[in-house]
Amino acid sequence: MTSEKVDCLIIGSGPAGYTAAIYASRAGLNPVLYQGAQPGGQLTITTEVDNYPGYPDGITGPEMMINFEKQAKRFGADIRYGMATEVDFTSYPRKVIIDGKKEILADSVIISTGATAKWLGIEGEERLNGRGVSACAVCDGFFFRGQDVVVVGAGDTAAEEASYLAKLVRKVYLVVRRDEMRASKIMQKRLETLPNIEILWNTETVSLNGEEGLESVLVKNNKTGAETLLDVTGFFVAIGHKPNTEIFKGYIDMDETGYIKTIKGSAHTNVQGVFACGDAQDNVYRQAITAAGTGCMAALDAERFLMEREVEVIADDILEIN
Ligand SMILES: Cc1cc2nc3c(=O)[nH]c(=O)nc-3n(C[C@H](O)[C@H](O)[C@H](O)COP(=O)(O)OP(=O)(O)OC[C@H]3O[C@@H](n4cnc5c(N)ncnc54)[C@H](O)[C@@H]3O)c2cc1C
Repeated sequence: MTSEKVDCLIIGSGPAGYTAAIYASRAGLNPVLYQGAQPGGQLTITTEVDNYPGYPDGITGPEMMINFEKQAKRFGADIRYGMATEVDFTSYPRKVIIDGKKEILADSVIISTGATAKWLGIEGEERLNGRGVSACAVCDGFFFRGQDVVVVGAGDTAAEEASYLAKLVRKVYLVVRRDEMRASKIMQKRLETLPNIEILWNTETVSLNGEEGLESVLVKNNKTGAETLLDVTGFFVAIGHKPNTEIFKGYIDMDETGYIKTIKGSAHTNVQGVFACGDAQDNVYRQAITAAGTGCMAALDAERFLMEREVEVIADDILEIN
């Protein structure tokens, strides 16, 4: 296995990773960034991004991410294809294996591996993604003003998405598989106060219909077997996200879903020299701008960490780190 030593390793190429790369390269950390299986991250699978500041006319997700990459390269970030497949954070420098065949020894590691929205896996979901089907009300709700939409899910995410959409759209059908929701009592109470939300209990989605865009959704009551065709143009899947953090399990603190825990007000994880940013550590906001913001924090925290470490090395000649 080949080995390489770097000052700063960034894992992931979404808004968080590229922003970290811009700041880290400008700070002279010579960052090396591995893009993973989805160069550009989640925004590469969407069409219009209308809520990222600085683009008054909006921009497509793929175009925006090409701009992020170009900007990081302009300052010398070393951007590479490859996937982090294994890590060892018990020794220092931190060890990360790329594609199972290359070892990177990094004085600082920035984790920006993002998250993946969970989908239902039904026919039409992928085909109509971005053309009526979405997993993010804050991102896409605005496109459905005055229209009727479906939200699927029963947890806090679904309750939040439905409440958010209720302010914009004419009607929200909340499709719940069982006869109760998992969302907190307070969120459920809030739903009851919104007159344009109708909860369809014991209901499942059968099919999504439409060619160029979503035209209707067929749902079925799983108790009675009765089918209903809902005349809607939006279909929001709100059954949760999965952070892409599997390989870090056992090395850094995470919550029960796998979101990395950072020290409040910073990008520090519980492991010195390892920082986390973007959706991999954020189960609340999950936006490009917040991912970019925390990417900036991670690079600045890494820069300070490396500077302090250098001072310590000069002072003691020996570095003890856990
Ligand atoms: C369809 C859709 C539309 C959206 N629309 C909007 C919108 O309009 N506005 C908005 O603000 N937000 C939107 N979002 C949310 C936004 O995309 C995310 O909040 C944002 O992309 C998170 O950025 P990130 O950098 O944390 O991670 P991601 O964008 O998820 O990127 C993660 C990166 O990590 C890489 N990676 C993962 N594992 C590894 C590994 N082991 N090794 C190396 N690399 C790895 C992946 O290849 C990827 O490059 C949308 C999301 C979706 C799915």
